[in-house]
Amino acid sequence: MGLMRSLKRNILAPVFVSTPGAQSSPIMPGGTTPGTPSSKQKEKSSVIRSKVVVALYNYKAIEPGDLSLEKNAEYEVIDDSQEHWWKVRDAQGNIGFIPSNYVKEKELLGLQQYDWYVNDMSRQRSESLLKQEDKEGCFVVRNSSTKGLYTLSLYTKNPHPHVKHYHIKQNSKGEYYLSEKHCCASIPDLINYHRHNSGGLASRLKASPCDRSVPATAGLSHDKWEIDPQELMLLEELGSGQFGVVRRGKWRGSIDVAVKMMKEGTMSEDDFIEEAKVMTKLQHTNLVQLYGVCSKNRPIFIVTEYMRHGSLLNYLRRHEQSLVSNQGLLLDMCIQVCKGMAYLERHNYIHRDLAARNCLVGSENTVKVADFGLARYVLDDQYTSSGGSKFPIKWAPPEVLNYTRFSSKSDIWAYGVLMWEVFTCGKMPYGRLKNAEVVERVQKGLILERPKNCYKEVYDIMRKCWSPVPENRPSFRVLKEQLISVAQGLLVD
Ligand code: ADP
Repeated sequence: MGLMRSLKRNILAPVFVSTPGAQSSPIMPGGTTPGTPSSKQKEKSSVIRSKVVVALYNYKAIEPGDLSLEKNAEYEVIDDSQEHWWKVRDAQGNIGFIPSNYVKEKELLGLQQYDWYVNDMSRQRSESLLKQEDKEGCFVVRNSSTKGLYTLSLYTKNPHPHVKHYHIKQNSKGEYYLSEKHCCASIPDLINYHRHNSGGLASRLKASPCDRSVPATAGLSHDKWEIDPQELMLLEELGSGQFGVVRRGKWRGSIDVAVKMMKEGTMSEDDFIEEAKVMTKLQHTNLVQLYGVCSKNRPIFIVTEYMRHGSLLNYLRRHEQSLVSNQGLLLDMCIQVCKGMAYLERHNYIHRDLAARNCLVGSENTVKVADFGLARYVLDDQYTSSGGSKFPIKWAPPEVLNYTRFSSKSDIWAYGVLMWEVFTCGKMPYGRLKNAEVVERVQKGLILERPKNCYKEVYDIMRKCWSPVPENRPSFRVLKEQLISVAQGLLVD
């Protein structure tokens, strides 16, 4: 076939660009933002105005040098020069490192301090979360798909269990309301009002779902990526793949992790261990967090965030019956993968093996991309050569088949195939066609057909991903916007 080119020869080395921690411009005590202060003023203002953050979650310090966080407590930031781990001081004067994604600057806190506020959670995910809770009056407030607006999602059993979604509107005075008769100065006031008065809602507002999932930290402690295997308790087997067995584990008896035990001889270990330092720093809600590696013994272990529902492919197949009629939820899954991929693209990081089997599903229907960049360290020629039997031919664009040319644009092609997998609830692309036949079709410009029931607008997006010319494919950033606007158009928010 003339396709026996090695992946390893044509590596486009990913460049990891670290984004510095978000810096906010200082706000003066009167609430004004200063002009360009002289250096003396600057010094003075930094003394007076140190950054204060509030903990969004509890965090238990484990390593010496780390500091525990208590939800809702305030901390003074001493050093935020590292992106993921900041040095802070608590009210008692204790100093230590904390995960920066567990806190929010006090002045920017807004609704985040409330348990009922769930940020960007989609309509579909809020519905499954509330249905799972199954309590009358259970509610969340989330960002509406129309930017700047908020939606209240409320569960009621009357006359039958369902979720109602209400836009929170604003009148000309800027007051918030759900029913025009009851306006309040702020959203928290409005929520409090409707805790006592249903005021036209299907039910009074009662509890919000408890047990909101806590995000993963970038590594298990600051600057930690080498994990002591003695601190890992290995539990049941979760599955096995290309590299060996994956087991659930507990780190230091409390943190859930997944442990991938790398079959010896399957990967170039030293290169991977080097890369793992960079990979632990990649952090996004839609990427499976790499916590670190146990590299001192053999086999080496890769320790990642644990995802309770396993691979997206199996999840789609297992839940086909309920998912097939819920195109909104399927689209939401695609949007989540797209968000994770847009983050990788922004950091010039190429996945190389994006497919439903390499995404994982967690609680609240969260979907995350796993195994990014790992393909570069595989030693098996059957996997790394485009002519090999394990090469993901069905996810590969023409330029990969012909020249093994990987880029974010080849990830886009694979993403289109992943969308197709999602909307067919886990069918095998190109059915039983042999790899050689698939290659022939792709070279001729033939593409996968529209999945049954799939909206035309969604299929149009898949087709954009399968443009034969890489430059004509959209970026993940653009794709994300397009998918969100399709979701807005198709569904009533
Ligand atoms: P490989 O990449 O070696 O082929 P996978 O990463 O696909 O192996 O893992 C094999 C299986 O193990 C997956 O299909 C999934 O069911 C399970 N698994 C892998 N990683 C996790 C994780 N982080 N959380 C939960 N289950 C996982």
